[in-house]
Amino acid sequence: MIVLTQIEDVRAHLRAERLAAAKEGKELQVGFVPTMGYLHDGHASLLRSARMDNDLVVLSIFVNPIQFGPNEDLDRYPRDRDKDMALAKREGVDIVFLPTVEEMYPEPTKTKVLVSELTDHLCGATRPGHFDGVTTVVSKLLHIVVPNRAYFGQKDAQQLAVITQMVKDLNMDLEIIPCPIVREEDGLALSSRNVYLSPEERQAALVLSRSLRQAEQLARQSEGATAEDIFQELVRTIETERAAQIDYAEIRRFPSLAPVSGSLPVKEIEGKILIAIAVKFGATRLIDNVILTMEGDK
Ligand code: AMP
Repeated sequence: MIVLTQIEDVRAHLRAERLAAAKEGKELQVGFVPTMGYLHDGHASLLRSARMDNDLVVLSIFVNPIQFGPNEDLDRYPRDRDKDMALAKREGVDIVFLPTVEEMYPEPTKTKVLVSELTDHLCGATRPGHFDGVTTVVSKLLHIVVPNRAYFGQKDAQQLAVITQMVKDLNMDLEIIPCPIVREEDGLALSSRNVYLSPEERQAALVLSRSLRQAEQLARQSEGATAEDIFQELVRTIETERAAQIDYAEIRRFPSLAPVSGSLPVKEIEGKILIAIAVKFGATRLIDNVILTMEGDK
């Protein structure tokens, strides 16, 4: 495994690897996993998929300042380089790209990549500018690595929808591979931000997966349950936890993120629906979701 901090070194290394493969008559398949580090089993699952599908796996670790709002956790975002390197090595990563902020943004960027509509709701509404920062940095990273496949977790379902749309709209020549949410045994979705939680908040945060499980059960088992019924059930469950402060709870189509009619039985909705929540426990904001395919249930 090699660790590179300079964009030019990543390009040079990949050029050499591609050339070596081409000399043997092969096209090198490159898989890419962009992250902000403080790696856990969720990231590891993305790396494992990338390892299986590709000849070479590139992991990037970059806490991207332009996707954080002024009152967010940029300065205290957790970092542990040694642990990250050990996990990357264990998962068979070939190249770790670890740029500094100066390397990625030698001057304030005058160019941004913006995806419209999909970024108006959910996290886009409560974190203005967040997705503009995400799509801009992911575009930059995709131009640096030029992978055949890039791996994104469904944990950030809206991000997955937004990136997929960007790749499609801009004719970027790669495949976006969605990966399922990895959870702790008790249901809490793995997140680098879970480290912020006090033991009491960690316990309270179980309401996220519990409320989603109940919402899913209602959607699947109750014949006439409408999106409004599911929403009410979701909110009621979250509110049973005193430490939980709801940022949003929404039911939308996936991946269009178009609203669903509240009065329609969800079983009659064709395609996938996303039940997404963002909840604060103290100063820590966590997100979780479930994506359901209802048409198969009919
Ligand atoms: P982050 O480092 O939080 O920016 O996440 C990097 C990538 O890992 C994103 O594509 C996330 O969706 C994905 N990811 C984070 N947590 C999980 C999880 N619990 N399960 C699956 N993927 C995850």
